[in-house]
Amino acid sequence: MVGDENECAFAKAQLKKLEKCLKLSESEFNLLKKPKRSLAFTIPLKMDSGEIVFLNSYRVQYNDALGPTKGGIRFHSEVNLEEAKTLAFLMALKCALFELPYGGAKGGVEVNPRALSKAELERLSRGFVREIHNFIGPDLDIPAPDINTDEQVMAWMFDEYSKIKGRLAPGVFTGKPLALGGSKGRDVATAMGGAYILRLLEAMDELNPCELRLAIQGFGNAGLNAARILCERGYKIIALSNSRQGIYNKQGLDIPFIISNYRERWFPEMEGVEPISNNELLELDCDVLIPAALSNQITAENAERVKARIVVELANAPTAPEADDILFRNGVKVLPDILANAGGVIVSYFEWIQNSSNEYWSEQKVFERLEKTMENAFYQIVRTSQQEKCDYRTASYIIAVMNILNAERLRGSL
Ligand code: GLU
Repeated sequence: MVGDENECAFAKAQLKKLEKCLKLSESEFNLLKKPKRSLAFTIPLKMDSGEIVFLNSYRVQYNDALGPTKGGIRFHSEVNLEEAKTLAFLMALKCALFELPYGGAKGGVEVNPRALSKAELERLSRGFVREIHNFIGPDLDIPAPDINTDEQVMAWMFDEYSKIKGRLAPGVFTGKPLALGGSKGRDVATAMGGAYILRLLEAMDELNPCELRLAIQGFGNAGLNAARILCERGYKIIALSNSRQGIYNKQGLDIPFIISNYRERWFPEMEGVEPISNNELLELDCDVLIPAALSNQITAENAERVKARIVVELANAPTAPEADDILFRNGVKVLPDILANAGGVIVSYFEWIQNSSNEYWSEQKVFERLEKTMENAFYQIVRTSQQEKCDYRTASYIIAVMNILNAERLRGSL
């Protein structure tokens, strides 16, 4: 028998795992195991050479019971439809966990953006919007930055959308530059949110931040800002990596020096620093491991060797579902992606509010509201995990799934 192509394998596996704590009816399971809408399309991109290439592109709108769908667009050579479904499912849960008035979505283009010139990147961003403008909008589906897409990409996309529609619509994209209706604090929000969550765990478990040794995998928006913020807060960061190289110093790395001398994805030369591979970093003798790069890094194969006591998931889906049980059994506390990296979408929500009210907030107000929002969800998850005797991921899934199903029931879809 041919399998059901619409299903999301990751969602199905995670929902099945929930069964011990949350019994879903057959129709609830069937509703959640597949996205509402998956768009697969081709963007013709004219290269500077005059050649035209045709790029596989996707946008998955997973669930919209709680509001317009929301989630990033990534440019990466490994983008595919199954990954977009998985990440859209996670966005739906993330928004529901924090009671944001959004459903979940994700999109991407299968391309290596580093091989594109700036003009090609602009044409690609505009091309993406030309293909999907009828399926997005401030009250329909609201994209944002993700891997390899930044505020400049959002600016081009927002401009293209406004030109096609013939009116200004800042609320259709979040993560825009400040001058075009962006929010203060949005650029560092993912890392800031992760730092708040780590602090909440420390306070609860009575840990001293100055005694914690951190390893961070990934040096993009999330990883770099996390290194900066956590270093300013007194943590010792002993290892860093990106897709090119990794560095390690048992005594702690000089983060301000590294950030100011970071060029073209090369870390500066430094004394006392040893090279380290991405795999070695994951298994390093440290206290807190922060995966802030791609998905599927901690797997059934290496989970047993993870020595950190705490994992803060700044990336989306860095831990494979089979690895979770191993980490839990070994007493590793995983602060799951839909909690730990939600700072980005929470401040996106603040940006969207500011766009519709035309009243702009101070950075202080943004961070105060972000911290409060994260704190509420954190304690709710801790309570649920104590009641259900489960890990934090299961607890956060229970809360999120119940919120989505409640909205579906009220709408009459169940
Ligand atoms: N791409 C980010 C995420 O995965 C942000 C999404 C958004 O702001 O909509 O959470």
